[in-house]
Amino acid sequence: MFIIFGTRGRQVDEKKGQFNCPSCCSNDNITGDQKQQQYTQIKVAKYFTLFFVPIFSYQTLGRFIKCNHCNSEYNEKVLEYAPPTFDEQVATYVEQELKSGTPISMLINKLKSQGLNEEQSTKAVNNIVSSNIVTCHQCNMDFLKGVEKCSLCDQRIGA
Ligand SMILES: [Zn+2]
Ligand SMILES: [Zn+2]
Repeated sequence: MFIIFGTRGRQVDEKKGQFNCPSCCSNDNITGDQKQQQYTQIKVAKYFTLFFVPIFSYQTLGRFIKCNHCNSEYNEKVLEYAPPTFDEQVATYVEQELKSGTPISMLINKLKSQGLNEEQSTKAVNNIVSSNIVTCHQCNMDFLKGVEKCSLCDQRIGA
């Protein structure tokens, strides 16, 4: 009788849990809820086999984390990942909009239409702008200093 020993690499689901999936988070809307996703921690191990049946694992080759929602695979360290807070996301958005030439008052309205209240919107914009304001004298619109052209009338705005 032949006894066939061998080894084989095998992936085993080790545990499940909730985490902040970087890929799913970045797809969230600016005012969307920060939803945690289910993950599966997968262990890749070498198994000792007998008649091709895995008997026990004798060497762990590695572990990775898979998002059950988008199927992205990550290093274990992803479990420590914390997504930017709501305020940080708003600040990033406000800065991009201002730099791309959105007038201050229009941006505040934009924020309000996305669900922020008057105070939150004004504060988020003021945090970035403070006193760095330039005005288009043709339409009387305020912009972030550094914006060179009025997006409404195409007039050059002097610093
Ligand atoms: Zn995901
Ligand atoms: Zn203008």
